[in-house]
Amino acid sequence: MTDKDYMRLAIEMARQGDCASKCSPIGCVLVLDGAVIAQAHNEVEHRCDPTAHAEILAMRQAGAHLRRSRFPGAVLYSTLQPCGMCSMASIWAGISRIVYGAERHQVHQMYFEDRDLDTVDFLRDAYKDDVQIEAGLLGEECAALYYGPQDDPPADEQANL
Ligand SMILES: [Zn+2]
Repeated sequence: MTDKDYMRLAIEMARQGDCASKCSPIGCVLVLDGAVIAQAHNEVEHRCDPTAHAEILAMRQAGAHLRRSRFPGAVLYSTLQPCGMCSMASIWAGISRIVYGAERHQVHQMYFEDRDLDTVDFLRDAYKDDVQIEAGLLGEECAALYYGPQDDPPADEQANL
């Protein structure tokens, strides 16, 4: 399995999500030593839980599976640039590499909680300065899951606006 294979799995997870209004179709796969240890999609609306992002749910699955809270050596694949919460959680989890598809500039601003802070800069400025970041893998395929920067999302699907 290559990075692209894992990202395609994340895209498949995103498509499986029950994305009702206000829910973003985000998929995430966690890989350790060449094995998929967790895969999840956004379930914020389904669970009525603002922290139920795909990345967080994948980390919870990994913790339950591995019986520990840190996953050094793990690679996190996400269809969209991780938000501040998931970036921070990745640092706490000791994840070694983050690979994401759609970049911030490719999607509507409503997918991000902050106007100015870019989570990539945030990750680079973290004390854990050895986390590798790879942006834009299958970027166009991933971006097609989301509203674009110029789109006008329906009112009941808007977030952060
Ligand atoms: Zn997130």
